[in-house]
Amino acid sequence: MRKIAIVGGGQAGLQLALGLLKNNYEVTIVSDRTAQQIFNGRVTSSQFMFHDSLQNERDLGINFWERECPLTEGLAFTIPGQDKIKALFWEAKLDHHGQSVDQRVKFAGWMNEFAKRGGDLVIKDAAPADVDEYSKTHDLVIVAAGRGDVNRMFERDAEKSPYDKPMRALALTYVKKMEPRAPFTAVSFNLVPGVGEYFVFPALTTTGACEIMVFEGVPGGPMDCWNEVKTPQEHLTKSKWILENFIPLEAERCKNVEVTDDNGTLVGRFAPTVRKPVSKLSGGCLALGMGDVVATNDPITGQGSNTAAKAATIYLKRILEHGDKPFDGPWMQETFDTFWDYAQWVVSWTNSLLIPPAPQILKLMGAASQFPPLASRIANGFNNPPDYAPWWFDSGKAQEVIKGLAGAAV
Ligand SMILES: Cc1cc2nc3c(=O)[nH]c(=O)nc-3n(C[C@H](O)[C@H](O)[C@H](O)COP(=O)(O)OP(=O)(O)OC[C@H]3O[C@@H](n4cnc5c(N)ncnc54)[C@H](O)[C@@H]3O)c2cc1C
Repeated sequence: MRKIAIVGGGQAGLQLALGLLKNNYEVTIVSDRTAQQIFNGRVTSSQFMFHDSLQNERDLGINFWERECPLTEGLAFTIPGQDKIKALFWEAKLDHHGQSVDQRVKFAGWMNEFAKRGGDLVIKDAAPADVDEYSKTHDLVIVAAGRGDVNRMFERDAEKSPYDKPMRALALTYVKKMEPRAPFTAVSFNLVPGVGEYFVFPALTTTGACEIMVFEGVPGGPMDCWNEVKTPQEHLTKSKWILENFIPLEAERCKNVEVTDDNGTLVGRFAPTVRKPVSKLSGGCLALGMGDVVATNDPITGQGSNTAAKAATIYLKRILEHGDKPFDGPWMQETFDTFWDYAQWVVSWTNSLLIPPAPQILKLMGAASQFPPLASRIANGFNNPPDYAPWWFDSGKAQEVIKGLAGAAV
């Protein structure tokens, strides 16, 4: 039986581990936290996932919270104007619903399931020396430790990483008692030029259904305002202050909101980074990176968990197809390259939204407010960002798409 070690029990690591167990591999997961510590700990993400990523979980039979978790039916985009008037607005239904299950619930649940199904669960804050040790006892070592320090074993790929500093000041506020959005549930995305972005959607957390507020402040701007905030109550007050001042229509939904729990808030920032996928270990073996370790995106497009889920699916297929052959450097590089065929579009589309938008992006967003089929195309691209190529990035192609879908709208 082939032995595989995975450092990091998150979206990518646990999904892959459960897939490998299902196929009778011997799997070790190394996690820096126990399931209970994760469940009782701080929120880590807003983890909204679109249909194709959710389908990967269904295919493995690990979609344990699908019935309980609220459904999100669409996506709405607003640029707020003066006096509660929307300067720009469109909304569209997704072809299939999306969902967000708090990673505290999901990772703790999957970790328990992994142990129950016979996986070897090791609780340890793994260092590069540990990765080296696992490479001597296992046929393959994968590092899926997210944004953990151990990812520095993998060299930053400067060519694929246009930014060397954080592009947004991030904050999350998990709340209950928010007024539901009408006429349908949606990721409600608001862009305030020069200030930042705010999006909000339904989710399932440790205490039941909730809404997750995500703040993306332009560094140094008024939404980059979390330094003095210490308590969950202060965090909620600051969240409401942002909405009242910059997105008053969203503030109206929040008159009665309360934080879900004392760990239901998060503040942070990081630079979007792509890393080279193979690390040479001190003992001479190799380790392969997966998920955020090799491609960390800013959360502005809500892609990290989606991309991690897709990475795990691609890696699982590659491992199964490889049979008993050695997991050597060329196999590792090819596995990453297969992933990168997909992920490159996630990275370039996400990065395009972290700087003032190119003229064709402004045109597309404006045209979407007039032509529902274009709004639908943009909304559904979140499920599969390669669909944005090439028109998102090229003014001539953007114009063709606008013309084509404008025709479809009349
Ligand atoms: C504010 C914010 C909002 C986000 N919103 C969304 C969203 O709406 N949609 C979306 O798709 N993505 C979102 N993301 C991104 C998403 O959460 C991540 O991209 C995704 O979880 C990455 O999966 P992963 O498996 O690579 O890493 P993770 O899910 O981060 O898992 C890594 C695991 O490894 C563990 N670990 C770390 N270091 C070690 C070590 N040395 N030894 C052992 N274990 C270790 C960690 O504790 C963690 O459990 C958001 C991120 C942030 C910060």
